[in-house]
Amino acid sequence: MEETGGGASPAAVELRGITKRFGPVVATDSVDFVVHPGEVHALVGENGAGKSTLMSVLAGLYRPDAGLLLLGGVPTVFRSPADAMARGIGMVYQHFMLVEPFTVAENVLLGLPGGLRLETAAVEGELAELGERYGLAVNPRAAVWTLSVGEQQRVEILRLLHRGARVLVLDEPTAVLTPQETAGLLRTLRGLAADGFAVVFISHKLDEVLAVADRITILRRGRTVAATTPAETDRRTLARLMVGRELAAFVERPAAEPRPEHTFGAPLLEIRGLHVAGDNRLPALAGVDLRLRAGETLGIAGVAGNGQRELAEAVTGLRPVAAGSILIDGEETTGLEPGALARLGVAHVPEDRLATGLVPGLDLADNAVLRAYDRPPFSQGPFLVPGAIAGFADRLIAENEVRAPGRTAKLGTLSGGNQQKLLLGRELAGEPSLIVAVHPTRGVDVAATETIHRRLREQRARGAATLLISEDLDELLALADRIAVLFEGKIVGTVFANKADIEHLGLLMAGLRGRTEAGRAPGAVPSGG
Ligand code: ADP
Ligand code: MG
Repeated sequence: MEETGGGASPAAVELRGITKRFGPVVATDSVDFVVHPGEVHALVGENGAGKSTLMSVLAGLYRPDAGLLLLGGVPTVFRSPADAMARGIGMVYQHFMLVEPFTVAENVLLGLPGGLRLETAAVEGELAELGERYGLAVNPRAAVWTLSVGEQQRVEILRLLHRGARVLVLDEPTAVLTPQETAGLLRTLRGLAADGFAVVFISHKLDEVLAVADRITILRRGRTVAATTPAETDRRTLARLMVGRELAAFVERPAAEPRPEHTFGAPLLEIRGLHVAGDNRLPALAGVDLRLRAGETLGIAGVAGNGQRELAEAVTGLRPVAAGSILIDGEETTGLEPGALARLGVAHVPEDRLATGLVPGLDLADNAVLRAYDRPPFSQGPFLVPGAIAGFADRLIAENEVRAPGRTAKLGTLSGGNQQKLLLGRELAGEPSLIVAVHPTRGVDVAATETIHRRLREQRARGAATLLISEDLDELLALADRIAVLFEGKIVGTVFANKADIEHLGLLMAGLRGRTEAGRAPGAVPSGG
């Protein structure tokens, strides 16, 4: 592809014809990519498009099968991430690489020649200075485990800056941030570019990309399909380039039409004073009260790790309740087994679909009847009824637009989005009265997200109650009637989605607004609502 940049500044790094394969998968196919000093270059594409792979080649984690990397115009081979780092290229991965018991300064020193024997006081001073300059404030003496995810991300960036990185690659950094933290990070990236750093920003949030980028490269299925600038494009065009077709979500407004509260049915789920222990035996939920009516979607917002998982597991019977009660349709269901709850009409779309929902080594038909194979119509007495199973699996595949060679394909060969559509379809097949959906579109591509959202809207229209747990505010705003914010195991505020103020939700998610104030906030739901 022809270079579209200004031409005046030399490329900091250039990737030419990069091909990287993983077994039979061609993750990137002869991709060209140029990074200039002083610019933010956004890299977008659906899940699996090859973004992380391409950038991992740039950062020395992967050696390409074909293609060249040029540094200041000179062909160069990086033997490792440390090698790339020594030449000024650093990457913040989706999973941070910090050592939790160590302090911020110690994490920065780790891996440096001399390591922890170096003068920590000097490093602390340097970090404070860098933090001040680029809006990356964090206490250099704090242990990493005490920091929020947003702060840990700042440590990762500071570490790269401290090592002298001139090219910074950030892989989906905003996926874990509140709206305010995201705004802060975007300002930081602009500040870095202004100081001559080259920044690569990966995101699937197109508004962010349009706000921060100088240039945008779009990957689809391992190939570059376009390179453009924010001035020349818009969300809809970018989405079309990413997916390869027009998406309904960008044609119609995605928001569900929130209905006046009084038109909902009777309370279907009632949670009273719920206390649940977390994996570390610290309380994960510390007194949660929620009510959810038939035909209503209640969104649970919050930064990861504030009790979302434990809430979902308690409601679906996967985790014991320490105190409080859960009522479904007026019946006490606290402590019931997952199977008993499923028979009461509770569907569960779990956070980790391969750990609790699906079995990758089984075929689609077996996965389709995983929870019901021992009952009619799939079994008669001790005998399976293959025709019934096949018919059901075919219907799930068709209705949920699962892209697969057929029902005999192994589940593990499908993409995450197609696995999720099958799981969702299976869970919804019995017309459940309560749906607990946890991050239903996380790690799922744009097209599959569209299908999943459509199916969830159908359930709401049918009168099902949905508890929708998501870290994606756009998703909650598009699907929920009300949004409750979970922070440190408590609901710190509840708002009507159609009147919600993103700024305010962000403050609630960050724990910067308490319960008392929520009552006066925009769109706030009167207590007990
Ligand atoms: P993106 O970051 O755009 O979501 P990735 O670069 O992670 O995409 O993945 C591109 C393709 O390569 C996908 O099909 C993915 O499954 C595959 N892939 C990525 N990393 C590995 C790996 N370590 N082993 C095998 N396949 C991989
Ligand atoms: Mg990725």
